[in-house]
Amino acid sequence: MSSTPYYHPVGKEIEVFEQSYQNKIPFLLKGPTGTGKSRFIEYMASVLDKKLITIACHEETSSTDLIGRYIIKGTEAVWIDGPLTKAVKEGAIIYLDEIAEARPDVIVAIHSLTDHRRELYIDKLGSTIKAHNDFMLVASFNPGYQKGFKELKPSTRQRFVALSFGYPSEKIEADILVNETDIDNAIAKKLVNIANKIRNLTELGLTETVSTRLLVDAAKLIKSGLPKRLSVEVAIVEPLTDDLDIIDALKDLCNLMI
Ligand code: ADP
Repeated sequence: MSSTPYYHPVGKEIEVFEQSYQNKIPFLLKGPTGTGKSRFIEYMASVLDKKLITIACHEETSSTDLIGRYIIKGTEAVWIDGPLTKAVKEGAIIYLDEIAEARPDVIVAIHSLTDHRRELYIDKLGSTIKAHNDFMLVASFNPGYQKGFKELKPSTRQRFVALSFGYPSEKIEADILVNETDIDNAIAKKLVNIANKIRNLTELGLTETVSTRLLVDAAKLIKSGLPKRLSVEVAIVEPLTDDLDIIDALKDLCNLMI
């Protein structure tokens, strides 16, 4: 058994998830990248002692990838269950990360699993399977208000209990950095201050701003001996944008703050 991953609650998400799980209601995690959504699900699966199957959805992800397919073995066609079918049969938690990126047939495939039926129709086998009592469907979605992000239809969203993930308070975020990387609290606080400063610079028009993940990366580099300014530059500033003027401006700002 692997140990429970570290997760610092930021609100009532643990209670909400536990009750959703008891009531078999699918769960939607909304929020930008790097805000602890995956870590939260890993933590909850471990606490509930359930197997977690994670699928990183992308624009080519189809219902076949999730449900299963025939493969040719020798002269025979053999059916192989996909990860969703396995989770439905075994009673695992399936986490469809970035569900809005997947092809539309994925959304169609999960519909009967997300209402009172709790069943999966496997069209290639012409059969329907009832979900194991412990099965739960969890999805994440990045509502990014900018262009280029895909939307989720209301008819899909309303099948889930939904919770927003954002940036934690200064104190919690610094605690996360210390726990994740063993860095000094004073440096953790400085990194969090830098993040909040950049997050408030909405006029930069960044598609996504500094996530907790970027701060953890910067803290790791500092902890392992890379100079602080360089760590901040490569882990926080450069991943944010390719605009050279903005990079220069952010580097100056960070140099003053670290
Ligand atoms: P997401 O799934 O939202 O893209 P992740 O769960 O991968 O983000 O989080 C990125 C990193 O940020 C994690 O690996 C972890 O180091 C850190 N992190 C963010 N929020 C938390 C939290 N509440 N507790 C512990 N670690 C966190």
